[in-house]
Amino acid sequence: MKEGIHPKYDESKVTCACGESFTSGSIKKELKVEICSKCHPFYTGKQRFIDAGGRVDKFKKKFNL
Ligand SMILES: [Zn+2]
Repeated sequence: MKEGIHPKYDESKVTCACGESFTSGSIKKELKVEICSKCHPFYTGKQRFIDAGGRVDKFKKKFNL
């Protein structure tokens, strides 16, 4: 068995913006993503929260909350 004949497609560390990190197959050693299965709206059901962006602040200002 010769080593190094395959392209480097190893487990790479993926770091999410939410702080979650996991490993995934990739040619890159490290990956940074903005969303992962832990914080993805599809999994968390918090799509409204994420989707709101700055709208909540605008809403609060509008009503002086
Ligand atoms: Zn995440």
